[in-house]
Formats: sequence, C-alpha cells, structure tokens
Amino acid sequence: MAPPSDTRPVVISGPSGVGKGTLYNLLFQRHPDTFCSSVSHTTRGPRDGEKHGEHYHFTTMENFEQLIAQDAFVEHAKFGGNRYGTSKQTVADQSAKGRVVVLDIEMEGVKQIQEQRARGSSLDARYVFIAPPSVEILEQRLRGRGTETEENVQKRLKQALIELEYSKTPGVHDKIIVNDDLEKAYKELEDFVFQAKQ
Ligand code: ADP
Ligand code: 5GP
Repeated sequence: MAPPSDTRPVVISGPSGVGKGTLYNLLFQRHPDTFCSSVSHTTRGPRDGEKHGEHYHFTTMENFEQLIAQDAFVEHAKFGGNRYGTSKQTVADQSAKGRVVVLDIEMEGVKQIQEQRARGSSLDARYVFIAPPSVEILEQRLRGRGTETEENVQKRLKQALIELEYSKTPGVHDKIIVNDDLEKAYKELEDFVFQAKQ
C-alpha cells in the first residue's frame, strides 16, 4: 500500500479502555514503516510490559513540572490523578523520521491543540475519536484489561462520560469510529488515515 498522501499527525482520543491502543498498534504492526507513536510523557507508573521510551517516557512529577516551566509540551493534561503530555521534541524527532505521527491523548489535550491551532500555531492534525458500542461494554473492557485498581476504574468511567459527551461537539473530530468489531473498526481507521487530504 502506498504511504498516505496526507502526512499530518493523527490525534486519536476516546475513553480509557475503548481500544485506542489496540487499534493503533494494529496500524503500526501492519504498516511498520509508515506510522510512529508520539511517545508521551507521564507520571503514572509502567504497566506490565510497558517500556520506557517506547510506550511512554515515564517521569516524576517534579521533572514533569520542570518540562512545563520550560514550555516543552505541545499539550499536557491531568488524567486520573496523573499528568500526561506530548513533548515538542518528541513530535519533532518522530516527524523527522518521515512517518505519520500518531498521538493518543485525552480530551483536554485535544482542546489545547485545537485552541493553539485556531490562533495560528501548533500542530495541523487530523482528529479521530474512538467510541465504545456502549458504556457497559467500555466498563467490561476496562476491567477486562486488568490494569486498573477499582478506584482508577471509577475515575476513568466518570471521565469517559465527559469524553463521550464532548465527542458530540460539532467540528472537533474528523472521524468517529465505534469500536465494536475490532477488524471492522480497524478498517475504518486504516481507510481514514490513508484517504487523500480533504
Ligand atoms: P485504550 O488504549 O483505549 O485504553 P486498550 O487498547 O488498552 O484501550 O483496550 C482495552 C481492552 O479492550 C483491552 O483488553 C483490549 O484487548 C480490549 N479490546 C479492544 N478493542 C476491542 C474490541 N473491538 N472488542 C473486544 N475487546 C477489545
Ligand atoms: P493510560 O494511563 O491508560 O495510558 O492513559 C490515560 C489517558 O491519558 C488516555 O485517555 C490517553 O489518551 C491519555 N494520554 C496519554 N498520553 C497523553 C498525552 O500526552 N497528553 C494527553 N493530554 N493525554 C494523554
């Protein structure tokens, strides 16, 4: 398959546990030379199997705050009691590889990038929202992943309702994909990222 003609970064958002990581990891596996992750910074601890510099740059709250003071982030937000941010350096390094950069960020980060864009700066990106078939199924997936404490599951589900409401705002997302059947949702994502610039 020829590389996408639209090489703008792709911002993927959606509630925790909806399957964002599952979907874009398939994109990375099936098109290994075409896409790359923006590798965010986070103050949360690594889950089993997560590698520093690959899944996240795992960092301390102190270091994260220093990076904010240095204006090192494209965007940053608090989520579930931790901080997450996309560093300008990481996006520049990954874009320099000539690949389409994929950002997995929550709602406040999406808002920040879009506000900066409206003022004429920051990333010119494409925005995809991944929605669950239902809130019940989202909860099953989040619990089924087995990575969160009960307290964190509750925080993430509460935030999920806010994110789902926000996804209805006209003009925020270029594409909304319901992740029901995985291969069907994957195909929609793949078709979207490979489609010509609108
Ligand atoms: P996110 O990155 O959005 O937090 P994950 O990709 O970690 O979500 O997916 C959460 C859980 O849901 C994982 O256990 C994953 O295997 C499962 N999952 C993802 N997509 C589907 C799907 N379409 N059908 C069933 N389970 C799914
Ligand atoms: P998790 O802890 O499950 O990896 O991620 C929790 C939430 O943080 C997800 O909604 C994910 O999209 C979001 N997230 C991950 N990295 C970033 C980032 O750099 N910026 C923002 N704003 N959100 C992020």
